[in-house]
Amino acid sequence: MATQQPLTGSCLCGAVQVRIAASPLLTLACHCRDCQKLTAGAFSLTTMFPRDAFSCAGELVEGGRGTVGRAHYFCRSCLNFVFTRIDAAGPRVNLRTSVLDDAADFAPFVEVMAGEKLPWVHVPAVHSYTRYPETPEELQALMADYSRWRSG
Ligand SMILES: [Zn+2]
Ligand SMILES: [Zn+2]
Repeated sequence: MATQQPLTGSCLCGAVQVRIAASPLLTLACHCRDCQKLTAGAFSLTTMFPRDAFSCAGELVEGGRGTVGRAHYFCRSCLNFVFTRIDAAGPRVNLRTSVLDDAADFAPFVEVMAGEKLPWVHVPAVHSYTRYPETPEELQALMADYSRWRSG
């Protein structure tokens, strides 16, 4: 699926604007209890991008648990959950897919933490993990598979 670049998006009130000059690396749904509470929904949606291709304008506040190495950013005005930086994930940004103007183009390819999934939820992901992919190599393989899937 060809997607026009740069990709753009915004928070609920429009005060935060994002722009990404790269193709997505991977799309995910996370069913963990934290994501259910953070999103006030059944799961979180992530589209992962290289950090250096991602830019964000507008005032942000940090939220979530304040876990070291894991920063969740929200619009200061409307408190919409916009993106996460996870130090262990390397130079990548986990953008909440709903923020993207073309969110419909970024169906979740992988679901993680399916062990905590609410029992009535069904996500048509290609790969499903009870927890997370265990190794960086496994994550790399998923990204390669996603790239083929998107272009196929
Ligand atoms: Zn906002
Ligand atoms: Zn989660």
